[in-house]
Amino acid sequence: MRIESGVSLKPYNTFGLPAVAHTLVRVESDADVRQVVDHPQLGRAPKFILGGGSNIVLTRDMPQVVIKVEVMGRRLVEEHARGWIVEAGAGENWHEFVMWTLAQGLPGLENLALIPGTVGAAPVQNIGAYGVELQDRFDSLDAVDLVTGRSHTLRAALCAFGYRDSEFKHSLAGRSVITRVRFFLPKPWQPVLGYLELERKVAETGITQPSPQQIADWVIAIRRAKLPDPAQIGNAGSFFKNPVVTPEQCRDIIGRDPEIVHYPMPDGSVKLAAGWMIDACGWKGKTVGKAGVYEKQALVLVNRGGAIGSEVMTLARAIQESVYGRFGIRLEPEPVVV
Ligand SMILES: Cc1cc2nc3c(=O)[nH]c(=O)nc-3n(C[C@H](O)[C@H](O)[C@H](O)COP(=O)(O)OP(=O)(O)OC[C@H]3O[C@@H](n4cnc5c(N)ncnc54)[C@H](O)[C@@H]3O)c2cc1C
Repeated sequence: MRIESGVSLKPYNTFGLPAVAHTLVRVESDADVRQVVDHPQLGRAPKFILGGGSNIVLTRDMPQVVIKVEVMGRRLVEEHARGWIVEAGAGENWHEFVMWTLAQGLPGLENLALIPGTVGAAPVQNIGAYGVELQDRFDSLDAVDLVTGRSHTLRAALCAFGYRDSEFKHSLAGRSVITRVRFFLPKPWQPVLGYLELERKVAETGITQPSPQQIADWVIAIRRAKLPDPAQIGNAGSFFKNPVVTPEQCRDIIGRDPEIVHYPMPDGSVKLAAGWMIDACGWKGKTVGKAGVYEKQALVLVNRGGAIGSEVMTLARAIQESVYGRFGIRLEPEPVVV
């Protein structure tokens, strides 16, 4: 492990927000994490686990010990009649890992291409896009407990995956450092094309049986067209979760706002498009201080240049209030506010 002091976290969060980590420790293995736990000073200090910083809002300097997870490596673990199991170190870049699986002829993750961040953070909020969620391809993960220093392997049931949610946001938050994740990629491969924008690509191109790489290319093109590149404009992707309501609540809202974009869920509940609600409240393209709402997608808050975390949160609260005032729905932030 490598211990550094007084580290600026600005380059380590995609919003580009300023904050300083009093102590930052880079861990490259389970043994490194255990060393942190056994360390005479670091062991008992509060900790924050950092991946690629693409789903956090830093509102202040960090007195906690920041553990930057840099466990690398990727491999095909086994192949059998029902599918392949692949594994990646938690510090691997997610998108590069997806591209690597495709290059190896191991399809299944293509709909999740170009999501920023690391492999280790992917189970934390059960990342999802274009009709696929991490839990649909999950096998198991390895983690080290920051209190006991013990390594353990968790299967899906213990991770309690939900919509942008898992046990790593609850009882295991800040307690369990994920060091490796294994994915089950089922055979025979089936394309997932039910998402509206992918259906449009099929119709536009006339390619009715796309390859996994073709789907990845479509997903990349769609994402580039509608989401800001954090290298150019600081952001953390979707800032709010899409609220899930009962059919009765949805009918009530439709009565007042017939055009509200909503998706029926398999369990009978209804997901409302938070971006549509924010847009309907007139926020798209607006700026408050140095934070703003992205012009092409109202669900994304952006750093207009030199923003600080509290400005982003002031804007987020103003949006929450106006959405509550009009629709009676409380929007919940998706990124972790630190
Ligand atoms: C432009 C853009 C587009 C995005 N699109 C999507 C999308 O389509 N779908 C989607 O689901 N998300 C999306 N996101 C959000 C983000 O990319 C994911 O949540 C990603 O998994 C975060 O990874 P990270 O490594 O950057 O995590 P970080 O931001 O570093 O951390 C996020 C949380 O995970 C915890 N954590 C990180 N690493 C570990 C670890 N190894 N062990 C335990 N806990 C850990 C942190 O403590 C923190 O609570 C987008 C973000 C951006 C900027």
